[in-house]
Amino acid sequence: MIAENLNKITKLLPPDVKLIAVSKTKPSSDILQAYNCGQRLFGENKALEMRDKYEELPKDIVWHFIGHLQTNKVKYIAPFVSLIHSVDSLKLLKEIDSQAKANSRTIDCLLQISISNEETKFGMDIKEVEDMLSSEDYQQLDNIRLCGVMGIGSITEDKQQTEREFAYLRATFEDLKQRLFANNDCFTEISMGMSDDYDIAIKQGATMIRLGSTIFGHRNYNL
Ligand SMILES: *Cc1c(COP(=O)(O)O)cnc(C)c1O
Repeated sequence: MIAENLNKITKLLPPDVKLIAVSKTKPSSDILQAYNCGQRLFGENKALEMRDKYEELPKDIVWHFIGHLQTNKVKYIAPFVSLIHSVDSLKLLKEIDSQAKANSRTIDCLLQISISNEETKFGMDIKEVEDMLSSEDYQQLDNIRLCGVMGIGSITEDKQQTEREFAYLRATFEDLKQRLFANNDCFTEISMGMSDDYDIAIKQGATMIRLGSTIFGHRNYNL
């Protein structure tokens, strides 16, 4: 089933859109099935779960962290994580930088931008991003690279609202790129779209989509 789902979705995707297979809560055997179809990018939202899977699975898997990240958990993923999608504070970015340094690495990050009307969702607004980027602390960070933005749309049946939220994220990306990342060649990514709204995200310019249930089936959090 996983192989079929994956083949179906990869055929539909424009070649320049990267697919992050979101394997949270799913066993390593499921990840291996996707791996054996050629999938290499996987997304997880819990630091320890991701570390355990990293240790168990083939080392050429590219791990993306997509969930809310607590500063005290950064150390578990810093040795191997490829991209952290969910940077939402200077405090977190500083800890990522320091753990990256401790591992003699540079860690790529995306700025999580708040785009939904749901208070419970994390993310910064444009003012917070500007304040962070202009702070002295930020200038000191040598072991992180900011590579773009990420957003999570509202859970809604209203497709126009989702479209507005993704268009807003795209506009925010363009604005930041022009004003604050003009000399930064790696600020290129827009991570948006999940199983229920990835078609809209692609139309609005997503460069990365994050799909879980479309590939692995529904999650059971009570296991
Ligand atoms: C769980 C999760 C996804 C994938 O959700 P699906 O609806 O199963 O595709 C994508 N992004 C984030 C941030 C998630 O937490």
